[in-house]
Amino acid sequence: MTGLTNRQYYLASRPKAAPTSAEVPMRDVALAAPSTGEVIIKNMFISLDPAIRGWMSDAPNYIKPIPIGDAVRSSVIGRVHKSASDDYVEGDVVMTFGGWETYTTAPAAALNKLDESAGVPLSNFLSVLGPTGLTAYFGLLNVGKPKAGDTVLVSAAAGAVGSIVGQIAKLKGCRVVGMAGSDEKCAWIKDELGFDEAINYKTCGDFETAINAACPEGVDIYFDNVGGDIFDSALLCLNKHARVAVCGWISSYNGEVPHFKNLWQLVAESVTIQGFVVLDYIDQFPEGIGQLVQWVMAGKLQFKEDIVDGLDNILPAFLKLFDGSNDGKLMIRIAE
Ligand code: NDP
Repeated sequence: MTGLTNRQYYLASRPKAAPTSAEVPMRDVALAAPSTGEVIIKNMFISLDPAIRGWMSDAPNYIKPIPIGDAVRSSVIGRVHKSASDDYVEGDVVMTFGGWETYTTAPAAALNKLDESAGVPLSNFLSVLGPTGLTAYFGLLNVGKPKAGDTVLVSAAAGAVGSIVGQIAKLKGCRVVGMAGSDEKCAWIKDELGFDEAINYKTCGDFETAINAACPEGVDIYFDNVGGDIFDSALLCLNKHARVAVCGWISSYNGEVPHFKNLWQLVAESVTIQGFVVLDYIDQFPEGIGQLVQWVMAGKLQFKEDIVDGLDNILPAFLKLFDGSNDGKLMIRIAE
């Protein structure tokens, strides 16, 4: 034993809707000493991603469900507190799959060392320079395959992934239309990020009409972050040989996937539709990060981070993803 206490939020039962504190309660457990080859990390940032909601369920997914009784799984950044590995020393800053907890114990082989000396805020490795930026980068470029002059439609466009997708599409010479859930978010993507049009999907009325009005030449790429009725309506606005990059279906994560009425458009317009997970491109991460760093340094990519302080706020913070009250890449910060 280390003599330390690990505070954890764990999965007591599988939520059927938005997770509650009965399904994700807190416990304090004694922190065991690391086994040979393991390190204990004192977490500083815990990433809050919509995908976590999927891992809380036992539906088939790209990684295994969180076992009942385990801490909720998340990407974390923290400082090595105790090392039983020759590869890490106390004080190293690392990123890994950890949990909603104060300390994560992980095998050294599962850690990525982060370089603090570059002066990049560590939170950026969860947002624009981490899984979020890489999802936008590979999803748009490898799945959407943009060409200059294409019209790109993005949903959850003011969010962590969507805001980067739209800006990369602009850098590639596309016309970009974003859909977001408030006038403030629409103003940000248009006025600050340079999107050509923004649709407030909560006030626009019929989605097909609104998309057609904002995309008079049709949609060549739909980058889908939300699924549901927006996905179904976007199908009606696609051009011949359009591409649909299915990144996520957040509108269904707390409920049922709706019945889609317009899938025939995939045939009618010879559409390519492809789902992806960012891990598909793990071998190309260094290239992606290199390009993202360059764009950020050149002031060509803007991004927001919504950093909530305190592990005890983690469940209400997580729920912000589903009512749209997060303002950028959502994460928890635990004071060192
Ligand atoms: P965001 O920062 O975009 O936050 C989620 C946003 O989704 C909310 O702010 C809200 O914005 C919007 N939203 C929530 N519920 C609905 C709804 N019912 N209908 C429409 N919009 C809704 O989160 P991320 O950028 O982290 O994730 C965005 C998407 O990308 C998710 O679907 C996620 O699962 C997916 N993803 C996929 C990855 C992959 O590898 N395939 C990796 C990372 C993320 P608003 O106010 O506009 O409604």
